[in-house]
Amino acid sequence: MNLILFGPPGSGKGTQSARLVGHYGMTHISTGDALRAAIRNKSEIGMRAQAIMERGGLVGDELVTDLLRSIIGEHRDTTDSFLFDGYPRTRQQVMNLDQVIEEFNLSPPAVIQLDVPDETLILRLTGRRLCAHCRAVFNIYFSPARQNGVCDICAGPLMKRVDDNPETTRERLRVYHGQSRPVLEQYQERGLLYTIDATGSADEVFRKINSVIEENY
Ligand code: AMP
Repeated sequence: MNLILFGPPGSGKGTQSARLVGHYGMTHISTGDALRAAIRNKSEIGMRAQAIMERGGLVGDELVTDLLRSIIGEHRDTTDSFLFDGYPRTRQQVMNLDQVIEEFNLSPPAVIQLDVPDETLILRLTGRRLCAHCRAVFNIYFSPARQNGVCDICAGPLMKRVDDNPETTRERLRVYHGQSRPVLEQYQERGLLYTIDATGSADEVFRKINSVIEENY
């Protein structure tokens, strides 16, 4: 089974991906995580992506597809089941993914859309704090750490992602509505789109995702 977890920034793709990996043993590919790692490693891809990501735009289709292809290539021998998180994000990327799926002889992915209204997303993104050590996620509005700025799990320092500031958040949502939402129509036409109300708790959302998978796969 291959899945695309699709939704605006802050819709819970990262949180739900971790649960899906734990439950179904899927191989998680987050193009956002891969790009952030490339920036940390100061690789050429990272250098090209950094400024675009900091202002909330989309990295070029070709660059991000090459990255995706190389990650699939690393794992394809040992897995049949990928979870795509944050890819595809444009119509062109849908076509690129079709090609990659064929190249690696994978089954066509279903799309689970996490639906959350913009007002909630803005609070989730601007309030999000990540542990610099164990990457646990907190939110100053919805799920604050017990001690301000300190991780409940490992006592590491809590940080903000550079692109979680109010200005970049607005731009990321604008880009999502303009360029990424149209991706859904393509999967809807293929009968592969499942939409979930993702405003509830992480547990509730995971239960809904599970029902979709169990009813259809
Ligand atoms: P994310 O962690 O998925 O929110 O991604 C963070 C940032 O990485 C996005 O705002 C984009 O700048 C970039 N990015 C991640 N995935 C893609 C993609 N599939 N296409 C283009 N840019 C991407």
